[in-house]
Amino acid sequence: MSFPSTVLNTFRPDVLAMHAYVVQSAAGYIKLDAMENPFELPAHLQAALGERLGRVALNRYPGARVFDLHQALRTHARIPAEMGLVLGNGSDELISLLSVACARPGAVALAPLPGFVMYEAFARQTGMKFVGVPLTADFELDTAAMVAAVREHGPALTYLAYPNNPTANLWDEVAMQAVVDAVAANGTGLVVIDEAYQPFASRSWFDKLASQPHVLLMRTLSKFGLAGVRLGYMVGRADLIEQVEKVRPPYNVSVLNIEAALFALEHADEFARQAETIKAERERLMAALATMPGAKAYPSQANMVLVRVADAAGTFAALKARGILIKNVSALHPLLANCVRLTVGTPAENDAQIAALAELLREPL
Ligand code: PMP
Repeated sequence: MSFPSTVLNTFRPDVLAMHAYVVQSAAGYIKLDAMENPFELPAHLQAALGERLGRVALNRYPGARVFDLHQALRTHARIPAEMGLVLGNGSDELISLLSVACARPGAVALAPLPGFVMYEAFARQTGMKFVGVPLTADFELDTAAMVAAVREHGPALTYLAYPNNPTANLWDEVAMQAVVDAVAANGTGLVVIDEAYQPFASRSWFDKLASQPHVLLMRTLSKFGLAGVRLGYMVGRADLIEQVEKVRPPYNVSVLNIEAALFALEHADEFARQAETIKAERERLMAALATMPGAKAYPSQANMVLVRVADAAGTFAALKARGILIKNVSALHPLLANCVRLTVGTPAENDAQIAALAELLREPL
């Protein structure tokens, strides 16, 4: 029996018009395109983790062990007992769950642009309207425009990635506070502060949470060194987090994720050392870029560096030909014209990245 060609029309027209998120193949390349921690676990920890994972009951659904992970995260991130905590399969899933929980007809999600693409993607998937507010030319929040947009649209969700992706900067605190206050003045709507890059940043919004009950804060173990494990978490006022819990699939974090995350938190000092190395390497990369006439590198508080060049597509292709994979972000937003995003790698990877860029970016911008 053949299906009628109209069967595709079962799907929503907006889904039919979407493109799936494409992960470019990185086999054989120095992979500097996705802000991963470039360091593997030391061999003795790999062996110990393997042994731990081997004993996990794969025949059982995730059970009480998830509460051990809650407790370990509370200790690790110093989350007060009265605050709510919800786990996601990566912080991507938390953005999805928040969107599901808030997407009533006409609801708006708002974020500065250029920004992390999944805020808009999940807003659209759940039928929310997305409002993007352009950053200033130097990638700061446009305070007046953000506050005006918050007043005009009354967003259910206002996202602030802190530091931002792909610009890698932390927002000015006064500007950020103005946005947080504008949402509070609406009397409804949440501010979601996304601290995915917190391991590499000099500031966090965490301590302000207790006095800002409409703010939720999201973090992830991905940039810490566990991008493959898929574990994100969100904290905030308990009765707000409780609503997100209601739309969370019961077993969204697998027994293997849970056990690997617990293991990593027991060895947090190892990952903290890696973060220190990554920050030092970031400074070395920045210093090298500063000597290249054809590069304008923007300040970074993350494990990535945004760089404006004369020809982003050409730079991307030339690096790829030398075996190095970065991200050409030019097409994401007009403010990113001819920008590429580099991830900070291992010292050897950065040597290769610096040597290739120095050769390519000799002509003044
Ligand atoms: N927030 C920001 C700002 C990001 O850049 C990313 C991933 N690049 C995420 C969230 C998603 O992280 P996760 O791996 O936890 O889904």
